[in-house]
Amino acid sequence: MLKVEFDCDVIIVGAGLSGLACADLLRNAGLKIIVLEADERIGGRICSITDRGSGQYRADLGPTWIWPKYQPAIAPWFKRLEIETFDQYEKGDALLDLQTKGPVQRQFTPGQDGIARISGGPQSLIDKLSSRLEMGTIRTAHRATKIEHHEAALKLFAIDKVHDKHLSLYARRVVISVPLRMASQAIDWSGKLSAKVLQEMNDTPTWMATQAKAVALYEQPFWRKTGLSGRVASQVGPLAEIHDHCSLDGSGAALFGFIGWPHQMRKSRGPELKDLIADQLVRCFGDQAGHYSALHIKDWATSETICSQQDLISPPAHPEVTSNRLRDPHFDGRLFFCVSETSPQSPGLIEGAFTAAQLTATRLIAEFQQL
Ligand SMILES: Cc1cc2nc3c(=O)[nH]c(=O)nc-3n(C[C@H](O)[C@H](O)[C@H](O)COP(=O)(O)OP(=O)(O)OC[C@H]3O[C@@H](n4cnc5c(N)ncnc54)[C@H](O)[C@@H]3O)c2cc1C
Repeated sequence: MLKVEFDCDVIIVGAGLSGLACADLLRNAGLKIIVLEADERIGGRICSITDRGSGQYRADLGPTWIWPKYQPAIAPWFKRLEIETFDQYEKGDALLDLQTKGPVQRQFTPGQDGIARISGGPQSLIDKLSSRLEMGTIRTAHRATKIEHHEAALKLFAIDKVHDKHLSLYARRVVISVPLRMASQAIDWSGKLSAKVLQEMNDTPTWMATQAKAVALYEQPFWRKTGLSGRVASQVGPLAEIHDHCSLDGSGAALFGFIGWPHQMRKSRGPELKDLIADQLVRCFGDQAGHYSALHIKDWATSETICSQQDLISPPAHPEVTSNRLRDPHFDGRLFFCVSETSPQSPGLIEGAFTAAQLTATRLIAEFQQL
């Protein structure tokens, strides 16, 4: 019989919110874990801009909103991580941007019920969770490529992209915290996943994977002074909607927008995009809007670790709750999927990531108590 020397109890593949939240719970339960992250940075779809000088949070290029009133899993995690939330600013009139040459229309629009933001941005969740792990637990630029079953262990193969080195690790359990479509295509499952499981993984859209966001940073929220909420609905774009994105303490002002162009158009007309966004901001908010200190664009469709080929060729869609097949373990009970899209509640969202982590960790901790 093969005698395995385990590198750890659990390997978590993916250092997004689900993977890190799961790591936090497992570490608290005394398990030895290793987190492998393909990218050079951690956070996955969570990605914030910080001020170069002060290092202070300025804006989000990934998720922004939570709905604590309707998302019961949010409050316990925010309490646990000691992170505050605040209301999305929506006081005043919104703008309707209906024609590139004509004037924008001003219209009172009620705020969206229960929509909130995270003090310090969602990045604060990532920073808090990762800071609680022992040094060396997270290995960035390590892409998992293959998983094999070896007696009581799972053997995980990975590439260390910095040193261009192949490595393998043994663990009692493996948690896959990678978008399901990406995982189905980029990891070799040694024939151990059924066609049904692989099909469902491939059928589950990665929420927002093909979207792009733009953020304009300013010294002051000048639009607020004229009674504007910062909210814009546009039929002419390139930003399909725009929102106020100022920090809670007033240390930084910003507007953010979702780019309405499909990813193919963003690719072919990329060079003009920034100028057209700047024109739109001025059209909506006046000359001052042209004086941003920075204009950032993040196109998630170009992310090789988040957006799969299947996402690129499928119409954008919100993931539905998957079957239990994706929440049940595989590889004879040794491998779990734990990414926001596997959550039975708010799949694809921040709440989904926390819920997936909680469900997976609870199950694993109970199992390790029996071992
Ligand atoms: C533009 C945008 C706006 C959004 N807005 C909101 C919002 O307002 N509210 C909300 O609730 N949600 C929103 N979301 C969704 C939210 O960001 C996600 O639900 C959440 O971040 C998912 O976290 P996760 O850990 O489950 O997955 P991910 O963040 O996708 O993490 C997966 C990780 O796995 C890594 N990985 C991939 N392949 C491998 C491999 N082979 N080996 C090792 N690592 C690998 C990836 O690099 C990544 O770090 C938004 C997302 C985007 C992109």
